[in-house]
Amino acid sequence: MSAPSLNVPALPGPTVAFESSSSGGAPAPPDSSPWRRLLVFSVMMIVGAVAGVFLGDSLTGPWTATDWALLAVATPVGLMLLIAIHEAGHTVAGSLAGFRLQHVSVGPLKMQRTPQGWTASRSQHGVFAGMSHGVPGPDLQAAPTEVVRRARAIRLIGGAAANVFSGLLALGLAALPVGETVETAALVFGIMSLGVGFVNLLPLRTGSGFITDGARLGPLLRGTPEANRDVALATVRAEAYGGTRPREWSARWVERMLTPRDYGMTDGSTRMLAYRHALDAGRTDDARAYLAEALNLLDRLPRAQHGGLMVEAAYFEAAHREDPEKARVWLERAGGGKGASIPGVPSCASGRAEAAVLLAEGNHADAHRRIDDAESALSEHPVDGTTVAEQAWLRDLARRMPHRP
Ligand SMILES: [Zn+2]
Repeated sequence: MSAPSLNVPALPGPTVAFESSSSGGAPAPPDSSPWRRLLVFSVMMIVGAVAGVFLGDSLTGPWTATDWALLAVATPVGLMLLIAIHEAGHTVAGSLAGFRLQHVSVGPLKMQRTPQGWTASRSQHGVFAGMSHGVPGPDLQAAPTEVVRRARAIRLIGGAAANVFSGLLALGLAALPVGETVETAALVFGIMSLGVGFVNLLPLRTGSGFITDGARLGPLLRGTPEANRDVALATVRAEAYGGTRPREWSARWVERMLTPRDYGMTDGSTRMLAYRHALDAGRTDDARAYLAEALNLLDRLPRAQHGGLMVEAAYFEAAHREDPEKARVWLERAGGGKGASIPGVPSCASGRAEAAVLLAEGNHADAHRRIDDAESALSEHPVDGTTVAEQAWLRDLARRMPHRP
């Protein structure tokens, strides 16, 4: 589990070549991009709508301009309803299987559980996307991996099952004598629902990394080592989202998410989580070993992960190795310095790294300023496990400063 404190590899130097910027054919991690979910919903919307129109046309005669206008209004509403039903299905099935809802977004609305209660905010996932994230509840966190895997499978099927169920209800409604407009709307909605539900359960992957719920289901049910690793990774992430600070993440799940390695994106994520877990617990040698593993993969990781990794390399070299020169080079390669924000990196993290570098360089006045900036950036974050650790790491830096008021 923890790397031995002897023979810990040093971090690779900041001049490591990492210009070949591809994910190295690494598989996409589960639950990756909500944009891809948006894609499938859009395709299904069009297919469903067209099929519905042709069906409606054959049933009720040629469409008038009013019919088309109604369709233009009803389609986004129906789509939002499809997404809401899908996410509600994941949520209900998930809570029956032992998950606790952490956040759910439908269209532009995101509801998030925080230690202070539920908050509403604007979703960053796009207007026609949905996402539901469940945290394994206390029973599941203590359960064997197979049990968690089965529970995840139930949660996964819930989304499509809800679409199929609501689709059948809508088709049932369309068969009743409820008036032409309602019949047509119910018919289109029913077809769209069944389409989304069935396509979502097919094991589909595309070259761009899109993966349906159905494609995640097979490995979960078969219990491949990768599926077990992904269960562990999701559980650790869930603890982080849930407000648990890194040193209190379950060591059992942190250990299990580390293998099998993929030498790509998943390793990038698991190493960075393990790094935070070790760093927050004061195990700096272990933290260095995980950070080194991630940095050695830099040329296989997507660009979006580079900034965050290099910022941690700068922070670690400055705060724990006290090598200001190396630290400065890492910071500059990340695109940081002089208070600059770095794409894809929370400003509290880049501010912490820069403050550590300035402190190691002996520039206390600017280090003070960066710590203050990072603290005010943190105060605007929703509270999660990483926020709590960030606060502690900033306080730790501040304590090392002479003349801190
Ligand atoms: Zn789903």
